[in-house]
Amino acid sequence: MPSLLIQHADLLTLDAQDRVLQDTAIAIKDGRIFALGEIPRDLAPDESIDAKNHVALPGFFNAHTHAAMTLLRGSAEDLPLDRWFNEGIWRTESALQEEDVYWGAALAACEMIRSGTVAFADHYFWMHQVARVVQESGMKALLAWCVFGSDFAPEMGPTTLELTEEFVAEFQNSAGGRIKTMLGPHSPYISTERALERSAALAHKLGVGCHIHVSESQGQVNNSFKQFGKSPVAYLNALGIFDNPSIAAHAIYLSDDDIEILRAKNVSVAACPKTHLKLAMRTTRIVDLMRAGVHVALGTDGAASNNDLDMLEVARLAALLQKHDTGDATVLPSTDALKLATQHGARAMGFGNSGVLQVGADADLILFNLDKPHLVPRHNLAANIVHSARGGDVNYVIVNGKVLLRQGELTTLDEEKIMREAERRGLRMTQSKLAQTQQYRAD
Ligand SMILES: [Zn+2]
Repeated sequence: MPSLLIQHADLLTLDAQDRVLQDTAIAIKDGRIFALGEIPRDLAPDESIDAKNHVALPGFFNAHTHAAMTLLRGSAEDLPLDRWFNEGIWRTESALQEEDVYWGAALAACEMIRSGTVAFADHYFWMHQVARVVQESGMKALLAWCVFGSDFAPEMGPTTLELTEEFVAEFQNSAGGRIKTMLGPHSPYISTERALERSAALAHKLGVGCHIHVSESQGQVNNSFKQFGKSPVAYLNALGIFDNPSIAAHAIYLSDDDIEILRAKNVSVAACPKTHLKLAMRTTRIVDLMRAGVHVALGTDGAASNNDLDMLEVARLAALLQKHDTGDATVLPSTDALKLATQHGARAMGFGNSGVLQVGADADLILFNLDKPHLVPRHNLAANIVHSARGGDVNYVIVNGKVLLRQGELTTLDEEKIMREAERRGLRMTQSKLAQTQQYRAD
């Protein structure tokens, strides 16, 4: 693996002391940070980066997304959650083909790398196609093959639990450890009790967690009490879904008892504030959860509800929403918001040696170009990144010591070809949706 020397960077280390270092060097060897500051004189790097006017920080970990839903970007707009699902997404997804997942996820990878994301927790269909994208792009990922497991919803692709088991067996720790897996039962409101029980048993057998949607609306919570006499969190816990470290996406409508379950079971909550704002939901109580000792990370959700996959925007919205909702401007200062978007996500996704700039950590880092009017002066680097920078200010992305974005150019993916192919496939899907709608009306 090539060695790399980054010189003259300012560093937001996000280490235990929140150290900010100026005009510093980082040496990378064998995919890890080998030295910080004092560089051994005999180091002969394969590549040197002059990072003057750049700030280096750990790369972003997107803890909840549906990467291939980039193909549905802008296709279901200005709708509440139930109509967004029923009238938009599920109709369009009925036209989804296996190869679409590859191109949609590849488009997502281009966008994510460009805005500083090094890893993503994906929850979708035909996940070996997403694994292909991870292998080719050089990113890291936690992949969960979504299983509806309902009596009424059509399955998408060959999504039986048995095939999910084969997927986990084949891809867990593949691509040199860059791919990790979980099971992906959709949610307590779609999946049947039997399907959730079987998922929990399989997760136990395979030693993996579950990535699942939880408590996105008050209606879901009310129905859960009516049907099962329990909140969604208590219900999933009773079925054993949280027995291995898992990811609960959204987790908005929570009681104190729910929060205690999430803490005790070491569940990571993936908050997706842009989806919450756009679909007029409430939002995850990040500050309350963290005070209660629950592990919280951030996700973009899919581009069908977020419209982009920019983790910087998500970190900013998380900070702003928490300040606004709590009426307390002191909560979620910029360094903490960055930790949510980086090391908290890394831990949630099973990449515990990433998310910090220190010797021995995985070399998963990004460099922002600070030489722009909106990033001057530099009173507070973390605030400049969270509240002033844009995803497009990311100039370098490095994963396991490999450069995936160099001076704004993608090094591993054919972006032109991917954009053309994704455009064609996205339009094909919505056009077939139109056909269905006409059919539906004719009926
Ligand atoms: Zn989701």
